[in-house]
Amino acid sequence: MPDSQTFDCIVIGAGPGGYVAAIRAAQLGLSTALVEKRATLGGTCLNIGCIPSKALLDSSELYAKARDEFKEHGIAAEKLTLDLGAMHARKARVVERLTGGVARLLKGRKVQVFTGTARLAGARAVTVTGDDGAARELAGTNIVLATGSVPVELPFLKFDGRTVVSSTEALEFDTVPKDLVVVGAGAIGLELGSVWSRLGATVTVVEIMSEILPGWDNQLARTLRRELTKQGLSFRLEHRVTGVTPGKGRAKATVSVTGPGGEDIELKADKVLVAVGRRPYHEGLGLESVGIVPEERTGRIAVDRSYRTTAQGVYAIGDLIHGPMLAHKAEDEGVAVAEVLAGKPGHVNYDAIPGVVYTWPEAAFVGRTEEQLRDEGVAFRKGSFSFAANGRALAMDAEGGFVKILADETTDRLLGAHIVGPWASDLIAELVTVMEFGGSAEDVARTVHAHPTLTEAVKEAAMAVDDRSIHSL
Ligand code: FAD
Repeated sequence: MPDSQTFDCIVIGAGPGGYVAAIRAAQLGLSTALVEKRATLGGTCLNIGCIPSKALLDSSELYAKARDEFKEHGIAAEKLTLDLGAMHARKARVVERLTGGVARLLKGRKVQVFTGTARLAGARAVTVTGDDGAARELAGTNIVLATGSVPVELPFLKFDGRTVVSSTEALEFDTVPKDLVVVGAGAIGLELGSVWSRLGATVTVVEIMSEILPGWDNQLARTLRRELTKQGLSFRLEHRVTGVTPGKGRAKATVSVTGPGGEDIELKADKVLVAVGRRPYHEGLGLESVGIVPEERTGRIAVDRSYRTTAQGVYAIGDLIHGPMLAHKAEDEGVAVAEVLAGKPGHVNYDAIPGVVYTWPEAAFVGRTEEQLRDEGVAFRKGSFSFAANGRALAMDAEGGFVKILADETTDRLLGAHIVGPWASDLIAELVTVMEFGGSAEDVARTVHAHPTLTEAVKEAAMAVDDRSIHSL
């Protein structure tokens, strides 16, 4: 085998976990190969996930603002039209810029990229098969698995790529569906439901649990649901979808739903987006050749704190392993695993990983919820501040929502923060940093925040923990 095909590190999968691991490994002086089966780099996130969904969220938000809010600002936008093709083309350009950027970064770091499907051939070897069927062998001292995840399919609601679809197709509808049923009120369902609702679809979100965003802070979830309801989305909570009957010809499909009292309901839909979660993807990866057995229930690959699997020299990160399926979590694990491989103490703090929903208003959190703290018997104090009392939010016409900070009753150390409101995705960063530093609510309260900014709501919520908010009673 030629030397050029023997590496210190072979990374499989070029999503945010894999490409970041490859860049960091190369930075640390390891000869690194990255294998990706898709023609473009960046994985789910850049190609069919975070980025195209955010591009559509931004475009649809502008459209909805022009239609519904410009008047309030004294701006007349008459004869507003929607060119969905142009909207998709812009999204594609954003994706292309970013995936191309990843390719340039990898080239600049001298990471060797192989396009093809990788299969483990023992603990130190990988077979890469290209689209043309040609196979090549790579040898690596260490192998990092970063093959990500795919949408969960329900047995009674199989994807048909046309009417019953996953997020991948819902990013590409070529016309605005008249009636869209979204199954699952998690981040992806709410974001894509928002996109198509803003563009004119009648959207019904069906959720089996008693509130949207299961597992999130209940007050936050309730508030976000109310805000989205005002925008026209409707929610059927504690409802279970049991099946779908496709319509004949151009007729709509019928979605069968069972309500909380056992009543049967039928919803008509042009499209049904099934967004009930994602599962780790390792089909055809040859895990059995190194003795790795995924967890039976979740399909996840078990790793230790250094991302070692049960097979010597084989590591795993990102959506494949424990923890929230999020791009930033995968990225940080990419950095950590590369540092481990280079003999450094790679580490990720799982207690301070923010979660975000990019609807409008946005929702974001870090740390524990009120419900979790109560369940765990942790004594805490909370401070909240409404965006309705924040000057910048009023100037922006974005007064719905609040910041809530939870701090330890005795030490005042930050335990959790929950925001629903404008730019919650960015506002949460300050509180993540404070948590990383083991800081307190008082630390935030005594930090100067520029006026007039949304960040003042964060400061006021921190002051409210000690019952000394200035701008609320
Ligand atoms: P992936 O990004 O899934 O990448 C895995 C890569 O491995 C893929 O490119 C795949 O082709 C490749 N691969 C698989 N098997 C092989 C093989 N055998 N050989 C070669 N290559 C292989 N997360 C956020 O944090 N923020 C968001 O706003 C957000 N929005 C999302 C919106 C949508 C619609 C979706 C679907 C997801 C979103 N996510 C978001 C989740 C995020 O995309 C994932 O958590 C993230 O991409 C996981 O990264 P990863 O590197 O583990 O895997």
